[in-house]
Amino acid sequence: FCTKFKNTKMATNRTFTMIKPDAVANGHIGNILAMITNGGFKIVSLKLTQLTVADAKAFYAVHAERPFYGELVEFMSRGPIVAAILEKDNAVEDFRTLIGATNPAEAAEGTIRKAYATSIGENAVHGSDSDENAAIEGAFHFAGREQF
Ligand code: UDP
Repeated sequence: FCTKFKNTKMATNRTFTMIKPDAVANGHIGNILAMITNGGFKIVSLKLTQLTVADAKAFYAVHAERPFYGELVEFMSRGPIVAAILEKDNAVEDFRTLIGATNPAEAAEGTIRKAYATSIGENAVHGSDSDENAAIEGAFHFAGREQF
């Protein structure tokens, strides 16, 4: 019973997102939050913040060996971001659908990246790729008392 409760009410119903520095600088915070809430997601944690270089390196450590890592760290730390934890049934998968493909040239109509991303690197939003990473990334940005 506990496992079932956990899977249906906790583990699979939250994801983590960032509105990246490009979209914040371009004035898209309000429109992106509107797409998120219109998509059926409830905002359970929210803040405007900025990653240090060390924060960005740690957050994207999984990409440390990729050729774009240095550029990604520079980009993600260059200005304010909005961090948020979102709640919805099937949150991780449904949010990946809402944000669209990493490369905006391949992103479907109606997705956040189709509307606001400018390149494969500066692609407006982040969305966790698994329930496990959603929990890790949410905890990276929000103390326990900031998670509602
Ligand atoms: N990225 C990049 N160049 C690439 C691929 C990815 O700059 O060729 C950046 C981009 O900002 C992307 C992030 O690295 O969102 C993480 O890459 P991932 O493949 O995990 O894409 P995502 O899960 O964000 O769609």
